[in-house]
Amino acid sequence: MDLEPEIWDIGYLIASILFILGLKKLGHPRTAPTGNLYGASGMLVAVVVTVAQMNFGDGIEGTVLIPAGLIAGGIIGYTMAVRVQMTGVPEMVALFNGFGGAASALVAASEVFRMINNGTIPTDWLTFHVAWIAIGLSTLVGWMTLTGSLLAMMKLKGGFEIFGKWYRTPTWGPEWLNYVKGIFLIGIVGLIYMSLEEPGNQDYVIGIIVLSCILGLLFVLPIGGADMPVVVSLLNSLSGVAAAFTGFIISNNVLIIAGSMVGAAGLVLTNIMCKAMNRRLIDVLFKSFGGTDKETVTRTKVGSDPDEVAMICDGISKCVIIPGYGMAVSQCQHQVREFADILEANGCEVKYGIHPVAGRMPGHMNVLLAEANVPYEKLIEMDDINSEMGECDVALVVGANDTVNPVARSGEGPLAGMPIIDADKARVVVMVKRSLSVGYAGVDNDLFYEDKTMMLFGDGKKMMTELISSMKEL
Ligand code: NDP
Repeated sequence: MDLEPEIWDIGYLIASILFILGLKKLGHPRTAPTGNLYGASGMLVAVVVTVAQMNFGDGIEGTVLIPAGLIAGGIIGYTMAVRVQMTGVPEMVALFNGFGGAASALVAASEVFRMINNGTIPTDWLTFHVAWIAIGLSTLVGWMTLTGSLLAMMKLKGGFEIFGKWYRTPTWGPEWLNYVKGIFLIGIVGLIYMSLEEPGNQDYVIGIIVLSCILGLLFVLPIGGADMPVVVSLLNSLSGVAAAFTGFIISNNVLIIAGSMVGAAGLVLTNIMCKAMNRRLIDVLFKSFGGTDKETVTRTKVGSDPDEVAMICDGISKCVIIPGYGMAVSQCQHQVREFADILEANGCEVKYGIHPVAGRMPGHMNVLLAEANVPYEKLIEMDDINSEMGECDVALVVGANDTVNPVARSGEGPLAGMPIIDADKARVVVMVKRSLSVGYAGVDNDLFYEDKTMMLFGDGKKMMTELISSMKEL
């Protein structure tokens, strides 16, 4: 199709406007679905305009490979999105971050190899330097994002399987590893410099790819436990940065704009996650927080039954429900909502305390509770709900653990310094979980053993269903 550049630039402008509006709308849960639609429409416009302005030529490369890639990618993406369990979404997001980085890095690699092999390396000093530095940076960030994201995905899964044997994903980070990372980074910068000096030598590019892949693994290796949200959002940001660099290489405006927006939005999210964890980004990346092995639980606690808990909840005036990862696992958000409805019908005020890193991805609890039609106004952020916990009769903790663990206040261990929801300030604490086992960060929780805490041992959905029946029988 023979479109004038001005026409497809208008298409890119429309796509960029849709991205900006989409991002704006994603800032609030109520408008987020529309934001998602805007973003997806923007991407559709960008893809259609890009394909329309391509010069396919006579070979099969363009006419067959591009539609084949679009169809195969569409089918794979659709199948993964439809089949993924709610608890598997964080791993899928990590994987997609990695794919984003790899896609940008592959475009950069194909461009550089094409120019070297066809002898079309730019001769103009400025054009050449911009192109070669952008290729070097896209390669560095893109491949790092791929390997780092794959390791992050395995850490979120808790391990990986080879021939039926399950291996835990390692978390290992002695102080000297930072020097090794520094040496790798200097090596990559050196190779980018050497490729500027000798642009026709593709060995330098291959060297940058290999070192960047190793550097990605080294960056994520020491990070574990409660600090994973920070690394996942940072990798998300890096995938955008890689795309923006690639946009410069192939002179594609919409890629530069979309990549910069993903990079910037990812950095904002990383900052929010750092605040939620009370960490500095530099400490997460270089100090190996949260990487200890899981503690073995040696204490015991007698469980309560739903009838006892229902009796306690009968006639209370304020209840704060604190959901966590276990609610996502058991998918009991509808039962949680039904329980809240019963309390409210009895004149009790019910609010939901949402910790920013509850679950396994940012906004995890908001998504689940929205699915159960819990009004958004009832979801209260950590700082606000903490100011009310002293007047709370019952804190119902459904599948949360690290985010209510008082040890975080002590300044020791993987959770040290992380702000928590002060469930322990409520008059009675009811914890719904299957056992006394530790949460994601692997730390035992003193809250289980407090006299005011009642443990409802069992799967979240089963226990909430039994609790609802007990409430109805009162
Ligand atoms: P935790 O991971 O601390 O604890 C979840 C608890 O849920 C477990 O202790 C488990 O106990 C319980 N559970 C599991 N399955 C069920 C079930 N079927 N029914 C009932 N309970 C169940 O969850 P939190 O939400 O409190 O904390 C999130 C943690 O994950 C933080 O450490 C955070 O840093 C980390 N993280 C968060 C990310 C994010 O972006 N939000 C990303 C990556 C990590 P039991 O086995 O006894 O049932």
